[in-house]
Amino acid sequence: MKFQTRLLHGKAVDTYANGATVPPVSFANAFAYETSEQLEKVFQNRAPGFAYSRIANPTVDAFERRVNELEGGIGGVACSSGMSAVTLSLLNILQAGDEIIAGSALFGGTLDLLHDLEAFGIKVHFIPKVEKELIEPHLTENTKAVFGELIGNPALNVMDIRETADFLHEKGIPLIVDSTTATPYLVNPIQYGADVVVHSTSKYINGSGDAISGIIIDSGNFSWNPQRYPGMADYKKYGKFAYLVKLRNGIWRNMGGCLAPMNAYLNIIGMETLGLRMERVCNNAYQLAQALEKLDGVTVNYPLLESSPYHDLAQTQLNGKGGAILTIRTGSKERAYQLINKLKYVKIATNIGDVRTLVIHPASTIYIHSTPEAMAEAGVYEDSIRISVGIEDIEDLIADFTEAVEGLE
Ligand SMILES: *Cc1c(COP(=O)(O)O)cnc(C)c1O
Repeated sequence: MKFQTRLLHGKAVDTYANGATVPPVSFANAFAYETSEQLEKVFQNRAPGFAYSRIANPTVDAFERRVNELEGGIGGVACSSGMSAVTLSLLNILQAGDEIIAGSALFGGTLDLLHDLEAFGIKVHFIPKVEKELIEPHLTENTKAVFGELIGNPALNVMDIRETADFLHEKGIPLIVDSTTATPYLVNPIQYGADVVVHSTSKYINGSGDAISGIIIDSGNFSWNPQRYPGMADYKKYGKFAYLVKLRNGIWRNMGGCLAPMNAYLNIIGMETLGLRMERVCNNAYQLAQALEKLDGVTVNYPLLESSPYHDLAQTQLNGKGGAILTIRTGSKERAYQLINKLKYVKIATNIGDVRTLVIHPASTIYIHSTPEAMAEAGVYEDSIRISVGIEDIEDLIADFTEAVEGLE
């Protein structure tokens, strides 16, 4: 099965009561059993079933299994937001005194989070790109993970997953990849060696911008050495499921960052058109990038352009696609604002992956807590605009942006 067929007919797509073509939304907090013995078994994972919706819920389960199938993992845990997924993917394996290495060109919320972790005794080394030459000097015996975005939002640097993962695996360190901007439509990071994949499913997987949500997918491939990861000792008996079981029975459940059933439902409906939408938004983004590159007064960053250092990697690792985000530089903050304010068919909003084209001036919004140096490392400048390209007719988008750029003072 190819991508869009698998979305609709894959193994994880169940049949539902009365032949319903979409899953019901199970709003129940609790699930009752005939006997105490039955509930005990469910609690101890000795019988399948649901007990309490913070721990597991049928609609959320349906969503987790669908995303997991698309990513080729051994299981997924859905979270209340992408940030919750990022946070818990790390806290599941970290303790005070540990160190991680992370890209500095990360989503602003993730950068803020990594600074928050320092208060809990976790040291984060930031590197401008997640690649082996830059990772190596920071490796210590306390390094427990490397975290990076596959296509950085909004730096649009592309990680070479295979090279990075191979290098890290020799050192016994896992690679955790935030693949929000790539989606399983462009690439399955696990196939290239990523150990854990996280998504803000609020974005492309949801597709309509109507449900904040996240997910953690485990490859099951990383062997967690209990000497290095003492918290894993009790979970070794679960074999390749160790990370997932620890997450589900531990920090994820106890922090209470579960996904609401309604949001899981909205994501399931949204993701059924992921292939269609990604094809459209990737084509739109490429055409818009090419059109903007021809105009005077702006420069364009898009991984598929010949001018991008990631052009070749996008061909090989991203299936010849470049994603649906581009950034442009306009020369000054004033010109950036002027350009944004002239646009007719876009919304000025802080989101990506919507069906509508969205633009934002990242420096004055998402990166408001970052220093100018940290911003520059994240590919954000005073004159940058981020465009999350939607599914509108490309002729209209090109005309709108061209008029706005040509009207700049
Ligand atoms: C949006 C985003 C997040 C955070 O997700 P939320 O659902 O907003 O919490 C994390 N990583 C990336 C790359 C994002 O774009």
